[in-house]
Amino acid sequence: MNMSEPTQFSTEGLRGEMLHDEPMSRHVSWRAGGVARRMYRPADLADLQQFLRQTPVDEPLLFVGLGSNLLVRDGGLRGTVIQMVGALTELRMDGEFIYAQAGVPGAKLARFAASNNFCGAEFFAGIPGTLGGMLTMNAGCYGGETWQKVVRVQVLTRSGELLERTPQEYEIGYRHVVQRTPGEEFFVGAWLKLETGDVEAARQEIKALMEKRSASQPLNLPNAGSVFRNPPGNHAAKLIEGCGLKGKRIGGAQVSEKHANFIVNAGNATAQDIEDLINEVRATVLQQTGIELHPEVRIVGEKSK
Ligand SMILES: Cc1cc2nc3c(=O)[nH]c(=O)nc-3n(C[C@H](O)[C@H](O)[C@H](O)COP(=O)(O)OP(=O)(O)OC[C@H]3O[C@@H](n4cnc5c(N)ncnc54)[C@H](O)[C@@H]3O)c2cc1C
Repeated sequence: MNMSEPTQFSTEGLRGEMLHDEPMSRHVSWRAGGVARRMYRPADLADLQQFLRQTPVDEPLLFVGLGSNLLVRDGGLRGTVIQMVGALTELRMDGEFIYAQAGVPGAKLARFAASNNFCGAEFFAGIPGTLGGMLTMNAGCYGGETWQKVVRVQVLTRSGELLERTPQEYEIGYRHVVQRTPGEEFFVGAWLKLETGDVEAARQEIKALMEKRSASQPLNLPNAGSVFRNPPGNHAAKLIEGCGLKGKRIGGAQVSEKHANFIVNAGNATAQDIEDLINEVRATVLQQTGIELHPEVRIVGEKSK
């Protein structure tokens, strides 16, 4: 499909908002990259379901949360981005479980859990993503991982069918989640099981985690968190620093001086600058240590011509 080719599909009866040629730099934490041909902001879950029912099966779709693990190449995205943040935001108790929709941010989830006297969700406060992004990545920090808390997930299929799945239907690992019977499905919600406990201690823990993060991460410059997964028994940041790459710059992209596994947009970086720096870091670490680093960040879209 050509970028400028119009796709014929009806938005009749939909209550959400359709944007055209939307700069993705507004929606990813790196604040860089190309445009999305279309972006749909569903009104709610029912509206998203209807949108999928009437969208042609060949329309490329990309679900996006807070864009905190995403690089969109400068040539942009053909197809439609579905913006989950601000759209699928339901968050409530459902019996003994917390039900959260996929657009709920981690910090909100952590605070909701603490205010309902639950412990074990504090780590969500340190991840600047939505529940949908965290389920996709099995995001985690300080010993906690998203799927450890999941009882059931709610997914929408490409054709708009709403299903529930159990964790056993996925292969779940470190920053890695794959459906055992792959089909094109998207996360729209989850039921989480947490332990009851000392709410004040949970609040203090959230505060302490946030302070620890701002002391160790370059949060004043646009970034996407850790760029590479930690290789087994090793730390990507340690390897990168050991290769003398802290501060290494390509165009506006720079390996952070504060945390070597972060690449920051130090000013007007293009997605190409960032991708080139990722490749350069990988090649140098491989050459100097023999260890291959694998990106944790997702890179999508077309290169600019
Ligand atoms: C400062 C900073 C600190 C970070 N710290 C951590 C950390 O400690 N631990 C950690 O694990 N990560 C961390 N991250 C990375 C990031 O926050 C997580 O990967 C997070 O889970 C991404 O969520 P998101 O909603 O922003 O997803 P996006 O970046 O919007 O999307 C990520 C991927 O998930 C897909 N996706 C998003 N929503 C859905 C959905 N509903 N259904 C299907 N697919 C979907 C997207 O298509 C994309 O492939 C950090 C990032 C930053 C900027």
